Amino acid sequence: MNKEQTNKISRVGFLRSVGIITAGTILMPRSLFAQNSPVITIKNEAAKASISVQSLRGNIYLLQGSGGNIAVFNGPEGILMVDGGIAVSRKKIAAAIKGISTKPIKYLINTHWHFDHAEGNEWIHKTGATIIAHENTKKNLGSKITVKDWNYTFPPAPKEALPTIIFRDEHKLKFNGTEIQMKYYKPSHTDCDISVYFPGADILHVGDTWWNAHYPFIDHDSGGTIDGMIEASNYNLSVTTDKTMIIPGHGAVGNRNQLLQFRDMLVAVREKVGALKKDGRTMQETVDAKPTAAFDAQYGNFVLNGAFFTKLVYADV
Ligand SMILES: [Zn+2]
Repeated sequence: MNKEQTNKISRVGFLRSVGIITAGTILMPRSLFAQNSPVITIKNEAAKASISVQSLRGNIYLLQGSGGNIAVFNGPEGILMVDGGIAVSRKKIAAAIKGISTKPIKYLINTHWHFDHAEGNEWIHKTGATIIAHENTKKNLGSKITVKDWNYTFPPAPKEALPTIIFRDEHKLKFNGTEIQMKYYKPSHTDCDISVYFPGADILHVGDTWWNAHYPFIDHDSGGTIDGMIEASNYNLSVTTDKTMIIPGHGAVGNRNQLLQFRDMLVAVREKVGALKKDGRTMQETVDAKPTAAFDAQYGNFVLNGAFFTKLVYADV
């Protein structure tokens, strides 16, 4: 496979991972790559995608089809969302939520600032929801940020899109008869990732610190690192049991065993890439040594491929 093909597959994998490309369209388009940022393509594709609704447990639902995984918690006081997807999905997300409850959306929690999780902030806030996030999510959303690996510069978000309840280490919210627990990871996928735990249902949303069965993206331009990703995985393992339902940022809802495999993969790739770099290999020589080979079949077919992930890790070790 030549370099160009590898790159294309990597991008297609990313697009599939955010839930907008189905197997039916995967072979399609040249046009998919005509635009030079996957952000624009993802937004265009999200406009066409439908939103699926999966009932988990304890009145918590998973919505997929607009970027990152969205959790919806329904109860007597109203709706709480974890992440709000991409703005173009507004009508479909609103319709999916109406199918769960006609009560208003009271709260929206952002797991981090990325557009495929937080671009819905503005419209959801305008329906009356209060936005809760880590303080760095507010900082990042309010700033102009270039993410080089996406070849895209995000302008500052409008004021209505900014969280108004922010915290540094942890935050608890009593709502619908339970106490929802939010916890900051320290820099991992970005510098603003948090987990959201629903104790009654024993469901943990871990945002983009976990991509179930995919190599994860690490956003170096907003503070992400491989070591932070490993630490975040260790934290996720420390607070879950075999019974916990774990919602990743991308991919299917999973369990602790799958999360454990993901953590072990991160550690193994970090060790291999670190040893090659220490040995004096250049980035390309490290990629050519295929340090992810043992994991590509499981993690590299669908999202970032092994070469792309190797480069992300190489930059950090
Ligand atoms: Zn992200």
